[in-house]
Amino acid sequence: MRTAPVVIVGAGPTGLTAATLLAQYGVECLVLDRWESIYPQPRAVALDDEVHRILARLGLRDEFAAISRPHLGLRLLDRNMRVLAEFRRDVAQGRHGYPQGSMFDQPELETILRRNLERYGGVTLRGNAEVTALTQDAGGVRVDLTDTATGEHESVRAAYVLGCDGANSLTRASIGATMQDLGFTQRWLVIDVATEADLGQWEGVHQLSDPARAGTYMRIGNTRYRWEFQLTPGETPDDYRDMGRLHPLISRWTGDIPAVELEIIRVAEYTFRAQVADRWRDRRMFLLGDAAHLTPPFIGQGMCAGLRDAMNLAWKLAGVLDGALAETVLDTYEIERRQHARAMIKLAKLIGTAMTAGGELGNVIRRAVAPRLHLVPGLTDLATDSRTPPLHRSDLVVRPRLRRGLAGGLCPNAIIDGDRRFDDLAAGRFAIVTSVEPSAAQRADIERRGVVVVVARPGSELRRWLASGAARAAVVRPDGAVLHAGRRLTCRTIDAIRPLGG
Ligand SMILES: Cc1cc2nc3c(=O)[nH]c(=O)nc-3n(C[C@H](O)[C@H](O)[C@H](O)COP(=O)(O)OP(=O)(O)OC[C@H]3O[C@@H](n4cnc5c(N)ncnc54)[C@H](O)[C@@H]3O)c2cc1C
Repeated sequence: MRTAPVVIVGAGPTGLTAATLLAQYGVECLVLDRWESIYPQPRAVALDDEVHRILARLGLRDEFAAISRPHLGLRLLDRNMRVLAEFRRDVAQGRHGYPQGSMFDQPELETILRRNLERYGGVTLRGNAEVTALTQDAGGVRVDLTDTATGEHESVRAAYVLGCDGANSLTRASIGATMQDLGFTQRWLVIDVATEADLGQWEGVHQLSDPARAGTYMRIGNTRYRWEFQLTPGETPDDYRDMGRLHPLISRWTGDIPAVELEIIRVAEYTFRAQVADRWRDRRMFLLGDAAHLTPPFIGQGMCAGLRDAMNLAWKLAGVLDGALAETVLDTYEIERRQHARAMIKLAKLIGTAMTAGGELGNVIRRAVAPRLHLVPGLTDLATDSRTPPLHRSDLVVRPRLRRGLAGGLCPNAIIDGDRRFDDLAAGRFAIVTSVEPSAAQRADIERRGVVVVVARPGSELRRWLASGAARAAVVRPDGAVLHAGRRLTCRTIDAIRPLGG
């Protein structure tokens, strides 16, 4: 039987990201997907700067820039297209070094993710490979698969399995996990249109709160546009497959542009759900991405959450396989990520409910509440600088119970010197960011452990960041999250875990 240290079930954005990160740490993996190539249906179109930073980490900074366009943020509109609330995004460079919001087309992103993966020798991506069973024992996992082109069955033995197999995950069923419903289910119509004409609209996400029919509009490429509309009971996508039927829905945005100049690329129906799996791990098997959580896409966070999962788990798993980290660090994955995913889903639900709730009465409430939405805990950070909540406390997120502090948040990808940013020095490695210049002996001791030292000079962005958490030194993990921050330069926490070599 063939063996692989890691088998990844599913080559969607989550599986491809996990495979690339593991490959960067030198971990061999086999990625299996039931389809021969990329799933072509319209799905994700927006991502934030934290996730842009992950793509850059994969080596896709320039490739992603070429297929994406920065956007100005999100507007909640009433039925007369008046702005009820606005969440602005910086299109230049936010604290992660990238535009705070970007638009793209998911199949195009998956194309560059796949092409990039080919750069790594240790990864095999196999299409037409449907995983049919996962059986775990003390030493590993048996992965049974069927080659959907030949019908042949085979088995692979893996030390670990990452279930990145989407909403109907076999891995989830195999570990006995079930989805917990967070109470949001709606049928929506998703439409992609191409046109050379300029629609002349505000270049951000428009969330339309029309009691007659809620909708979303955004420009996703030079000639590509996306609309999403809530379906009423009994309606199906077949009711909207020709431009004659579709045009009345989108004409608020297309104005005088004749229907013949608008080409329908795809019309599809999706059921938007808010769900989180009740467990994300059973011994050697993990759930990531849509297999672990589903969110209504109102704040563009479904795929983003999957990439955050991969970023969180990859360095820990690589460290365990390398023998550098204790197996117990794998427990921190679900502890840290579950709460974060849940918090983002709740925010998406809130925006979705603000858009779609309650007919005329809902309209009155919306007018009163929408302008104050940015004051809702969680939405404040998201609204002001696209910041998401800190990771939950764990053995690798050490912070006092009652203080928020820096631990669990991301270290900014600040400019350190010249053109070099934090990630150019420290991505994938432990780092200590300190405003206290270490002594020669301290520096030698820290660097001997493979840890990068970054001194936050007076007046620098990193200095201000440390001060914002009342800290003088912070230990930053290989995924950019802060493990611990304090008033003194100490290696006590670092001592506990021998870092991965850089
Ligand atoms: C209309 C819409 C709009 C969206 N907008 C956004 C957005 O703007 N921003 C955002 O971040 N997210 C958005 N999302 C969500 C995003 O598309 C998903 O969260 C993302 O695709 C999940 O990625 P994944 O890799 O976890 O799962 P998937 O993309 O579902 O990939 C799973 C893969 O596993 C494979 N697979 C499944 N079972 C097996 C098996 N047994 N054997 C082998 N292979 C298997 C499948 O073939 C598939 O390739 C949107 C979704 C929708 C529907």
